[in-house]
Amino acid sequence: MIPFEDARRIVMDSVLYLGGETASLDQTCGRVLAEDIVSDIDMPPFDKSAMDGYACRKADLGLALEIIETIPAGRTPSEKIAGGQCAKIMTGGVVPEGADCVVMIEHTEIRDGRVVITKKSSVLNICYQAEDVETGDVVLRKGTIITPAEVAVLAAVGCAEVPVAIRPRIGIITTGSELLSPSKKPSAAQIRDSNSSQLQSQVARAACVPVPLGIVEDSPEAIGAVIEEEMDRVDIFLLSGGVSMGEFDHVPAVLEDKGFDLLFEKVAMKPGKPTVFGRRGDTFVFGLPGNPVSVFVVFELLVRPFCYRLMGSEGGTVTVTARLSEPVARRKSDRIAHIPVRFDKDGKARAIEYHGSAHIHAYTLADGFIAVPVGTSEIKAGENVAVTLTRETRVAD
Ligand code: AMP
Ligand code: MG
Repeated sequence: MIPFEDARRIVMDSVLYLGGETASLDQTCGRVLAEDIVSDIDMPPFDKSAMDGYACRKADLGLALEIIETIPAGRTPSEKIAGGQCAKIMTGGVVPEGADCVVMIEHTEIRDGRVVITKKSSVLNICYQAEDVETGDVVLRKGTIITPAEVAVLAAVGCAEVPVAIRPRIGIITTGSELLSPSKKPSAAQIRDSNSSQLQSQVARAACVPVPLGIVEDSPEAIGAVIEEEMDRVDIFLLSGGVSMGEFDHVPAVLEDKGFDLLFEKVAMKPGKPTVFGRRGDTFVFGLPGNPVSVFVVFELLVRPFCYRLMGSEGGTVTVTARLSEPVARRKSDRIAHIPVRFDKDGKARAIEYHGSAHIHAYTLADGFIAVPVGTSEIKAGENVAVTLTRETRVAD
């Protein structure tokens, strides 16, 4: 059994970059940028009015101003503003030469055809050319995970074909002779296969391509056959079940038989102890324990960061610090434990009712999980804990 930190290092040191490709802008949310992105324009591209109002000279705010033209967004002003003059201007319009402020329309009145400023303000209401970004600036770095904000910036700098990392293809095999598909009603000794659907969702959420390879019975031949068959079609295999000490737990032996080097076979973590990680050439394999929470947590802690590394990103996991509202205690402390928590209204983290590694329902009520380190049997109320978030939205109260 190796410490969790060693397992994580072994996984993260094993990466191989799969290369880049281009994707059209609308298909990139969630993916990883494969190159730095440089702006081909200033942003804003010109001195731009932030308000509907009148563009004029600050020095003239006490005068009744002559209106020389109207400037809608999208049209270049035709005249320069001279003393005593102003131009009616719309939000997004180009501020005309000679003007150094825009007075918002609400602070003006028209008297005898001229503009009178009724409320003076020191706010200039101009967004200056290049104040956000200058031509040639790197606006986004290689390795960035694209979210809607990045999509907007890519669009703004004219990057319609986006250089993105190739997405690893991840073959998902659930092993277990007791398993049946979610659409069927289990008999006395059967259980529904929830790991296939869970892993497909986790893989998709990590911007990788899930390749569902179905349920395989607990037979070395059957497991070996799927691996052999799919070897060249996937970058990573994820297997669930069959990695423990039981008589029907064949996965580690099958993997070795199929030529995988097993880089570890047991990790001092709870849940997830029997986790296996191996490599054959450019193909990687994680053998995850069958219990759904083990699958869930080991994926988030080891598989997810590994996937992002394969795409050239250090990201993928969000951890926030919060105070613990109630103490967390345990009897044995020989393994790092990960336990589900949710945020109270005051932002404190609270451990939720959790019955162990089969209790995946607990994670529908959790915002994330915390780690209780090896050698720690209690974390006291009020102490700071690192919460690894497991969802983008907060759990409803
Ligand atoms: P194993 O790791 O194969 O010993 O399985 C541990 C526990 O997880 C057993 O109770 C299995 O029935 C359960 N389990 C295994 N695979 C799945 C699956 N695909 N979906 C839900 N539960 C599973
Ligand atoms: Mg099993």
